[in-house]
Amino acid sequence: MNGVVSMLTEEYTAAIREYLAGSGEAALRLAYEAGRRALEEGMGVLELVAAHQAPLIQALRTETTEKGKERVLMQALGCLAEGLSPFEMVLRGTQEGSERLQRSLSSLQSVEEQLRSQNKELTVAHRSVEKERRRYQTLFDFAPDGYLVTGLEGAIREANTAAATLLRTPQEMLPGQSLQEFVVEADRSEFRERLHNLHLGTVNRMEDWQIYIQPRSGPPIPVALTVVAERGAPAVAGLRWLVRDVTRRRRLEKERARSLVGEARAEAARRFEFLAEASSRLVDSFDVESNLISVARLTVSFLGGWCFVGIIEPDGAFKQLEVAHGDLVPADLTTELRRHCLLRTQTNEENAGQLLDPQVINPISGVWLDQVADSPEHAELLRHINGGSAMVLPLRIHDRLMGVMTLISPGGARGYRPTDLLFGGDLARCCALALENARLYRDVVAERDKAEQASRAKDEFVAILAHELRNPLTPILGWTEALKRHALISRDPVLRAGVSAMERNAKMLARLAGDCVDLARISERKIQVEHKPADLNAIILASVETVREMATARGLRLMLDLAPELVQVLGDTMRLEQVVMNLLINAVKYTERDGLVSIRTISSGEEAEVQIQDTGIGIDPAFLDLIFQPFRQGTASWLTSQSGLGLGLTITRQIVEMHGGRVWAESPGLGHGSTFHVRLPLSTLTHEESQGQVSRPPFENQGAGIQLLLVEDSEDILFLMKGQLEEQGYAVTTARNGRTGIEAARSRRPDVIISDIKMPVMDGYELIRTIRATPELRTLPAIALTGFGTRGSNERALEAGFDACLSKPSEREDLLAVIRKFTERRFTERKFTERDSSVPTGSSISLIAHSAQERPRDES
Ligand code: ADP
Repeated sequence: MNGVVSMLTEEYTAAIREYLAGSGEAALRLAYEAGRRALEEGMGVLELVAAHQAPLIQALRTETTEKGKERVLMQALGCLAEGLSPFEMVLRGTQEGSERLQRSLSSLQSVEEQLRSQNKELTVAHRSVEKERRRYQTLFDFAPDGYLVTGLEGAIREANTAAATLLRTPQEMLPGQSLQEFVVEADRSEFRERLHNLHLGTVNRMEDWQIYIQPRSGPPIPVALTVVAERGAPAVAGLRWLVRDVTRRRRLEKERARSLVGEARAEAARRFEFLAEASSRLVDSFDVESNLISVARLTVSFLGGWCFVGIIEPDGAFKQLEVAHGDLVPADLTTELRRHCLLRTQTNEENAGQLLDPQVINPISGVWLDQVADSPEHAELLRHINGGSAMVLPLRIHDRLMGVMTLISPGGARGYRPTDLLFGGDLARCCALALENARLYRDVVAERDKAEQASRAKDEFVAILAHELRNPLTPILGWTEALKRHALISRDPVLRAGVSAMERNAKMLARLAGDCVDLARISERKIQVEHKPADLNAIILASVETVREMATARGLRLMLDLAPELVQVLGDTMRLEQVVMNLLINAVKYTERDGLVSIRTISSGEEAEVQIQDTGIGIDPAFLDLIFQPFRQGTASWLTSQSGLGLGLTITRQIVEMHGGRVWAESPGLGHGSTFHVRLPLSTLTHEESQGQVSRPPFENQGAGIQLLLVEDSEDILFLMKGQLEEQGYAVTTARNGRTGIEAARSRRPDVIISDIKMPVMDGYELIRTIRATPELRTLPAIALTGFGTRGSNERALEAGFDACLSKPSEREDLLAVIRKFTERRFTERKFTERDSSVPTGSSISLIAHSAQERPRDES
């Protein structure tokens, strides 16, 4: 009995005792309450009866009277009746509870039945699910491809064996790792992006996503990924990955591609070879038509079938150029086809555009044949070809139709496909280019001919002009020279100044005329230079002397700074003098009063350099090179009254380049002076070797005892030259034309004949031809005086029979030198003891003269 029950029992017993002692109903209710609670707390009924009996027995024993015993008994009975009611209630409640329990039990039993059957079903279902799960696990584990389950961020949750093998990581270590770490660096950003899209739900599935993964060891592996997003509750959302190793697939693809490329390359090589051959045939000759015919034949030998080539001629007519075929066909079919012209009508018709587009016609239709034929018979002939397909290739450049090439494949063979147009287009482009080039060449040749004609006319004009200028200049110069020496004039300062001015200006004119002649020669490439040792310092000294007077007159100082050693170049002294003179005269011309012109020679390494520097008007840097072009004279802003024709520097550059040198100008700008540099290769000849060659022999009194015949129609020139020659001691006979010249030659038998070319009655050519045809005169040395000075006129004179030519106005020294060359024997016979009696280097005659001694003197 627990504590609560004992306490309640005692409460009950005490309450009964008090009731029996007469405390009334209140004690009884207390007992009743205590009894009820004790029963509730688990007291047994018998125990309660015992607890009830104990006070009763005690009260009975205490009562000594029967009456008292009877009252106690009566109260005990009433109390028992009262006391039984809770028992009855409890009993009834117990009975009801028991009934309810009984009912619950049976419903529980039925529920249990149900549960049991459900459990059975569940067990069956569980078993099959378990079987499936195992099957799936087996599949998952032993599948040949890698399977992975990851979170939406790519963290691996599950991985099968194949995935672990692929990633070279133990399977149990994969969960928790990020799949991204197995992606090669190069593919990572794309991987992140796609993963992000999967995460966002913009895509739910990706297939054949090719990337490279980087296993924990070994090289990267190409894989194809298939990813499916599963979107359940956040806890189960994830990505399922199928990772397939595509190394083999890639290799196979590569091999296949390689073999395709190989085949394509072989085909391309064949086509390339063909196109290269066709291109080379197209430039085989200048005759583009025969080149095209050759290409048409090459084409059919390559492709088989037929090749028709038609071209549009300059007058617009369409002409069939060739009908070539690659197979055995009756010869008369080709002959017949050549009489017609494929597509002729279309090239005339405006609506024929489509037929002339690049196209493949496969198969050839009767309608097409009728359209491209020029007549029904032509169409009939074309049907006989029995072609399978055709390819029309217009030959166009910049939308201009220049011709058409039509290829027809043999029937039965593989027909042309649209893709063949690429190759055909290349061939057509080559042919069109060849036609265009031929057209351009024709135009260029026509233009060049026109330009050459104009240039020849200009050169002729320049030569004639120079001639016409030189003729009057010859006596002027001669006379001014003679007058200068005349005692009367040299005594009178006014007359002396007048004669000097005349001479200076006449020389200027002669120089301009000379420049014109030189230019004509340069443009005809007819200037020739000697290559003999020439002393550059000596050339400069001579030139400086020539311009000294002019410089002094302009108040300029000349400063010379010549290399102390011999500066020897290989060249033509006269031409080099011309170069230095041109530059010096320019320096003087373009420098204002009180200026300075310095001339320097330097020899360094294998080159010699002449520098001519002035403090003059300078040159605009933009013109530094242009001034070397003909007729270029700077700009109007710095043109001076001194400017000439603008030819001097052109001629200068030409001459310097003919010596293997170069000339250029430098100037800090207008108003700051200029420097002209001439660089020439140094000669390797010794000083001694060169000494003799550059020295000039004296001419004093060289003509004593020598007879000259001078034929010249200009009285002025005749008079002047006669005087100059007689001054030298020559005996001079004169004649005014060829005929009287021949007569004089016959009668006087001169040692040398000097004749003008252009003369009335009989010109110089006829004169010399007659002389060469006259036995007693045929070896007579003859010098021509030509006014044109062009190579053509000089050559003509030499061809006609002259031994040398001199251009008018000729320098006295030049004339004397050449006369002495031809009279050398007589000269030495007169015991002339001079060591070197050769023609001086640089004399203008040496350009063209050939020695009269070379001619057999006494053939007869
Ligand atoms: P030009 O007969 O006009 O002097 P050049 O061919 O000798 O012809 O010279 C061409 C141009 O070069 C000249 O017109 C002049 O403008 C310029 N030039 C040549 N030499 C000099 C120089 N020393 N100083 C300034 N300008 C010069």
